[in-house]
Amino acid sequence: MTKSHDLFQAAQKHIPGGVNSPVRAFKGVGGDPIFVERAQGAYMYDADGKRYIDYVGSWGPMIVGHAHPEVIAAVREAALNGLSFGAPTAIETEMADRVCELVPSMEMVRMTSSGSEATMSAIRLARGFTGRDKILKFEGCYHGHGDSLLVKAGSGALTLGVPNSPGVPASLAEHTLTVSFNDIEQVQEIFSQYGNEIACIIVEPVAGNMNCVPPAPGFLEGLRSVCDDHGALLIFDEVMTGFRVALGCAQALYNVKPDLTTLGKVIGGGMPVGAVGGRRQVMEYMSPLGPVYQAGTLSGNPIAMTAGLKTLEILSASGFHDDLSAKTETLVNGILDEAKKAGVPMTANRVGGMFGLFFTDQPQVANFQEVGRCDTERFGKFFHAMLDKGVYLAPSAFEAGFLSAAHSAEDLEETIRKAGEVLQSL
Ligand code: PMP
Repeated sequence: MTKSHDLFQAAQKHIPGGVNSPVRAFKGVGGDPIFVERAQGAYMYDADGKRYIDYVGSWGPMIVGHAHPEVIAAVREAALNGLSFGAPTAIETEMADRVCELVPSMEMVRMTSSGSEATMSAIRLARGFTGRDKILKFEGCYHGHGDSLLVKAGSGALTLGVPNSPGVPASLAEHTLTVSFNDIEQVQEIFSQYGNEIACIIVEPVAGNMNCVPPAPGFLEGLRSVCDDHGALLIFDEVMTGFRVALGCAQALYNVKPDLTTLGKVIGGGMPVGAVGGRRQVMEYMSPLGPVYQAGTLSGNPIAMTAGLKTLEILSASGFHDDLSAKTETLVNGILDEAKKAGVPMTANRVGGMFGLFFTDQPQVANFQEVGRCDTERFGKFFHAMLDKGVYLAPSAFEAGFLSAAHSAEDLEETIRKAGEVLQSL
């Protein structure tokens, strides 16, 4: 038995399911999760000292690699001045200035401590600003665990939402409309029915929570014009895509400006951080300037700001995102080649430093239903065989993979070779 196994048993005594966030429990792939002891660059080491090439990167934040020496040094120095003050600090202004400089649509920004808080705040702000209650989201997109956002489509495409967790009141969920990602006609149809009741559309501009699904050409532009036509706000949830798919985030890559943007993950460099920002006129509706309440004891925490700013500094280097994209392309094409050689049907999506592999003979995967048609059992086998060989992929067929600047050509080669061995054995 491994130390990870023992640690998982011990964890389950006082932690529900032994984990502090459900996906870590390996429910989607079976077996025990590995317990991590430390990580460096592209590698994670488990409690038994085994090394893994890591393609999760803490679900996105570790874009410059784990324990980057400059990030660690900056955090160490900041910690010596105290961990939290609950009062303004200069570094929060530095962060706000930098974010507004980099992200095309952002004129003001408010920091939070998680992506979930950021999306909850964005939804409240959109509702408060427009005076409307309904919101529109997409099937397979995840926006954190806020009540209004833990909602799935009811039966039939155009029905009101139903909670996908007990504890979310049906009377709240009914204000969340859910349609299929990449289907602009469904969006238009919903707006023709409920247009003057909808406060906002919230969307992951590249979906990363149903594996990786890029927007179809024209989809994001379509959302922009529907919102403009009906006086609704467009929210890009860039918690995952922010600073990962491009320096200016997905909105720069696809050249579509949302009214509000939520950020998380990369912006905190691995510390607990989220942010909501956007058009000045809308942001001024937030407390203490405006009537929409939003707050946080640890928001703008100085250590988190330090880690995030240093990470942003490193990834602002010229060519950073081009290199990351090129590495992702090498990895994905290499694995697809191996799948072809092994006669295993596989499709892939990738944008910048995020990617998705799909066990399917569908030529493309563009929405949640198509992701759901892929062979998740085969993915589970692939995942575990790769894990045995020291490659750590996201433990679910419904999660995207992430690369970092620390992944070397040798790491990619090793991963492709091992994937080839595993695919031959499937
Ligand atoms: N939005 C998106 C797009 C996300 O991927 C996530 C987290 N995976 C969240 C929101 C929620 O962020 P957090 O887990 O930090 O609350």
